[in-house]
This record gives sequence, C-alpha cells and structure tokens, in this order.
Amino acid sequence: MSERVLIIGAGQAGMQLAVSLREDGFTGSVTLIGEEPHGPYQRPPLSKAFLSGESDEESLELRSPAFYVENNIVVISDEQVVEVRWDAAHGTAVTSTGRLIPFDKLALTTGSSPRRLSIEGSELDGVLYLRDMADAKNLKRRWDKAEHVVVVGGGFIGLEVAAVARKAGKTVTVLEAADRLIARAVSETTSEFYRAAHERRGTRVRLGASISRFVGDGTKVTGVELDGGEVIPADIIMVGIGVIARGELATQLGLETVNGAIVVDSHARTSDPRVVAAGDAVLLPHPLTGDGQVRVESVQNAVDQAKLAAKTIMGGADEYRAVPWFWSDQADLKLQIAGLSNGYDATVLRGNPDDEKFSVLYYRAGRLIAIDSVNDVLDYMAVRKALGNGQTIPADQASDTSVALKTLVQD
Ligand SMILES: Cc1cc2nc3c(=O)[nH]c(=O)nc-3n(C[C@H](O)[C@H](O)[C@H](O)COP(=O)(O)OP(=O)(O)OC[C@H]3O[C@@H](n4cnc5c(N)ncnc54)[C@H](O)[C@@H]3O)c2cc1C
Repeated sequence: MSERVLIIGAGQAGMQLAVSLREDGFTGSVTLIGEEPHGPYQRPPLSKAFLSGESDEESLELRSPAFYVENNIVVISDEQVVEVRWDAAHGTAVTSTGRLIPFDKLALTTGSSPRRLSIEGSELDGVLYLRDMADAKNLKRRWDKAEHVVVVGGGFIGLEVAAVARKAGKTVTVLEAADRLIARAVSETTSEFYRAAHERRGTRVRLGASISRFVGDGTKVTGVELDGGEVIPADIIMVGIGVIARGELATQLGLETVNGAIVVDSHARTSDPRVVAAGDAVLLPHPLTGDGQVRVESVQNAVDQAKLAAKTIMGGADEYRAVPWFWSDQADLKLQIAGLSNGYDATVLRGNPDDEKFSVLYYRAGRLIAIDSVNDVLDYMAVRKALGNGQTIPADQASDTSVALKTLVQD
C-alpha cells in the first residue's frame, strides 16, 4: 500500500508541504486538513491591502481549488483535528465531525494564535485580534464606522493596522508597554524611526503605556483606561501583542515542545521521526543563531521549512539553511529584514532615517548577521545575498555610504 501523509493545518506551511511533496514526486496520498472554512490563503495582506480595500478575499487564495484536484491533494476545510494517536504501525486523526483519518506520516503545520489580553473589559464588543480571515472580516465590518482606533501593541501587525487606519483618516493611538516599538525584532534606531514616522503621519504613539482596563457602555468598547486614570476613546481596539505557537497536538503525541512550540531538528523532524513540523508553530535550530533555537514567524520560514519537511518525508537528508527574510509595509514605508539579529553586539547605520531611506546592519563578533532596510531595497538585497553566500561585509567598509554594498558582495 502506498504511504499516506496527513498534514494538519492548511495555512502557508501546510499548503507548501503538500505542493512540495507532489513537486518532488511523492506518489502516495496527501491530505491537507484545516479548521478554517476555506482553503489556504495569504495572511500578510490581512493587515495591509485587504484592510485598506485594495485586495479582496479571492485574490488572497494561495492556489485555486482546481490546482489541488489536478495535483491529487485532498483538502478538507472547516474541520479541526481534535485528537491524534499512533496505533502500532499507523496513526489516526480524529476531527471535530468525528471523521477518522488514517496516516503513515504526519506533518504538523498548525501555526500560531494571538496572545490574548485578559483584563477588565477584554470581552467587550470591539476588542479585536487579527490572525485569520474571519478576524479580518470582523475588523473590516466595523472599519468604516470607526473614528477612533486604538492599537494595543507596537509590533508589526499593530503598526500596519495603525498605518491603514491613519491613511483612512481615523484618529489612531498606539499603546506599547515597552520603551520602544517592534523591540523584539529591530534595533533601537529602527524602532525610533518608526515611532517618529508614525507620529509624523498623525498617529499618537505612547511608549511605556500601562493599561488598567477597557471601558465600555455595557456591551461595546468605548475606550482604554491607562494607569493613572486617563481614558483614550476607542471605537475599535486592535490587540496585537504577539502570538503563541499551536502545539496542542504535539503535546498530545508526547513530542518535545517548549512553551507550546514544537521542537524540530535541522531536517524539520520532531522528536518522533515519523512526524515533521514547519512554520510558526516550530522552534528550530538555525545556522545563523549559532547554538540557539528560534521561532520565526514569517512567510519565508513557513515556505522554506515546509519544502525541507517534504524532502525529509521522502527520505532526504537536507538541512535547513535558508536565510530568513521578512517584510512589513506601513504606509509608504517598506521595511525589509534579512538574517536574524539575535545576539548582535554592533550595528552600522547607512543613510539617514530622517530621509525615510536607510539601513541598519547587525554584527555579532565582527560578522554580519542581519539587516533592516527601510525603503532601501539595494542594501537589503546585497546583504541577503551575502548571507546566502555565507559571506560577511566588514563593518568599516559597510559604513562608507559612498560605496554600494553590492560591490562588496561576491557573485
Ligand atoms: C495579519 C498578519 C500579517 C502578517 N504579515 C506578514 C508579513 O508582512 N510578512 C511575513 O513574512 N509574515 C507575515 N505574517 C506572518 C505569516 O503570515 C505567518 O508566519 C505564516 O502564515 C505562518 O504559516 P503557518 O503555516 O505556520 O501558519 P498559518 O498560516 O497560521 O496556518 C496554520 C493553520 O493551521 C490551522 N490549524 C491549527 N490547528 C489545527 C487543527 N488542530 N486542526 C485543523 N487546522 C488547524 C489554523 O487554523 C491555520 O489555518 C503575518 C501574519 C498575520 C496574521
């Protein structure tokens, strides 16, 4: 009997894994199951073009329904896998409708879910999160009528929503508990740039903000109360305070997890070699972090890890080497990041943040490890290429802005 692969989680990584299995010549059965009521789609536009109305739901679809049929990939939507178990040689997944799906190899691509705020008023109508299409539609339904938008959390998604709201003429306040924006991902220079850039565009940014409760009229939210009593009016509160890996099924299977994230090796294998995992749900070793493990929440990581997991399922021995890259669009500011800046000990600034075009290069022990570029695609591409080649660009040479970075990178 040919091998049966079950992929749980029909998002970016799950879809890629199914496609890569077929592209790599896998002839067994491939079933991709997801709990959302539609097939895999792109999430990044939910806080960008979909929210602003520049793209619609259909345009976000990753592949057409016909593609899955043509490639003999069975897609099951609107059904959650509630239990997985191994019975001797094969496994069985049980879904929310009671369906039993047998499999020989399992892939977990279950993604992540928004971290929830649990304070007084959290349950009020108008306190929203943004992870999936249902959340995005919920937000859009209220969008036109909302004059005052408060964003809790100054990370990528919160700032993207703030930028769209401001462009639509709303009063926007971003409340960030830390002393700078996007603190987990970028340098102080980039954080400070984004604070100033959002304020220039009319968004109020409050750093070090401590929220005591959400206030409402009994049903609907009307504002946010800060410690000290100040109330900021809000018709919508968008909470974007990070995500939690969805490792419930991994835990059920007794796989190794850390804070819910599924631990994998450099082949995308979990602690059980019959199970691979990829995407936001995963904690992985990465050559750019040295000995450390990272959780990377990006389309690039979901795609590249899924490609690797497909190879592993087919008996390959490739290791994860992809250079991480990421983007965030906030108003007319395009942020592009390549590499992982974890543990950096020095930076080089190229260009002037006041011109809204600059790059920050990150170094650890003298070696280039990452870049943030704002509206500077050439610097970004040069560093991405250098990291891909395993090359460094000496800091003293990179700081000379009269020299194009690409001339310092070998072909
Ligand atoms: C608003 C927003 C904006 C973003 N912007 C960017 C960006 O600009 N650039 C970038 O690189 N990344 C961005 N990201 C992140 C990127 O979308 C994610 O990193 C990527 O989607 C991760 O893919 P994944 O397959 O791991 O998870 P997901 O795409 O979340 O897919 C996981 C799927 O598994 C399903 N699932 C989970 N458990 C079960 C179960 N038990 N049974 C059935 N189904 C289950 C979930 O419902 C979900 O559909 C953004 C994310 C969001 C939400």
